[in-house]
Amino acid sequence: MRYIEPHAHMVSRVTDDYRAMTLAGCAAVCEPAFWAGFDRSAAAGFYDYFRQLTDHEPQRAAKFGLPHFSWLCINPKESEDVGLAREVIALIPQFLDRPNVLGIGEIGLNKNSRNELKVLEMHVDLAARHHQLILVHTPHLEDKLKGTRLILDVLRADARIQPERCLIDHVEEHTVKMVLDAGFWGGMTLYPETKCTAARAVDMIEQYSGERLWMNSACDWGVSVPLAIPLAALELRRRGHGAEAIDRLIYQNPVRFLSQCSKFKLPNEAVTPV
Ligand SMILES: [Zn+2]
Repeated sequence: MRYIEPHAHMVSRVTDDYRAMTLAGCAAVCEPAFWAGFDRSAAAGFYDYFRQLTDHEPQRAAKFGLPHFSWLCINPKESEDVGLAREVIALIPQFLDRPNVLGIGEIGLNKNSRNELKVLEMHVDLAARHHQLILVHTPHLEDKLKGTRLILDVLRADARIQPERCLIDHVEEHTVKMVLDAGFWGGMTLYPETKCTAARAVDMIEQYSGERLWMNSACDWGVSVPLAIPLAALELRRRGHGAEAIDRLIYQNPVRFLSQCSKFKLPNEAVTPV
């Protein structure tokens, strides 16, 4: 089995996780910028975090033969302070040429507030000006449906944004259709307690063909499972999906989306879109 982990917060993980992922067939890991579990006190904290994502973490992953890519932003959870967000966003362009940076993410909304929306628009403008891919975090539970609608509205309102270059993550049963119908990609986050179980993800794949869907583990500092994708592959196999269909979903699909950024290259592997 081979797979791409397209959304994993590896700074929260130990080396055993890198080793287990590599042994399970992980061919690359992609790490969006995220909330640290506590609010950072200044823009300088983000500057160091971006250095960690673009310099230190790729080196740590390389020790396990794993290519590491990253996405940069100030996450929605810390977007309430528009002044701080403006300072952080101003730091990002100097990192965009780093060899492992794929785009702007995970941006989006948390509580669907006016300030979060403003910061989302600032990020979308940044991505458009620098022709970057976009990775979007959608809110939790009761805020998800409204938040997803608001996010899609912001993206569609900007004529420079191409939906096929944006992935809307953490989709669930009540949001996946609107995301795919609008031409965006959807990500399903496999968590043991919240968001989406493997069985629910496979249900959605069977219902919506899976052509523009990927799965990820998120594996952050909270309760999460770094091997969630290979475990979901077992669920796919148990339900009768063949090896080619599984490979398409957990390897070829993320490669197809991520290869829209020319920096996404895998060693010893042809990554031409399938
Ligand atoms: Zn995340």
